[in-house]
Amino acid sequence: MLLDIRTLNLVARPLTREQGQTILERDQYCCQYCGLDGRATFENALAMSVDFLHPRSHKGRKHPRNLVACCRPCNQIKGRHIFKTFEEAKAFVLEHREELRKAWQDKVAKRAKAATQKET
Ligand SMILES: [Zn+2]
Repeated sequence: MLLDIRTLNLVARPLTREQGQTILERDQYCCQYCGLDGRATFENALAMSVDFLHPRSHKGRKHPRNLVACCRPCNQIKGRHIFKTFEEAKAFVLEHREELRKAWQDKVAKRAKAATQKET
């Protein structure tokens, strides 16, 4: 990922800044998987990138139909998996985000419980 200092957007190589910008604008700077709004906060803006639906590592093309605005966590979750459709990819990403969320919530709950037990 390449951070463009002028626009503060992360653009996947080998896209040019203009190509990445075009996709982010088309998708209104919203992650097409989880809906994160890249314009809402500075931190969200930093998290935005462009995803290759069909991965570059599997010869995915940089045609606009193969590119979507995507936050880095969703991009990482999707990884190099190959999907037949965008909807299939989205379902996979959202399902895995939910699994990660539950694992995180369990961890936080256990820590809180351990802290409470130490106090008593
Ligand atoms: Zn996302």
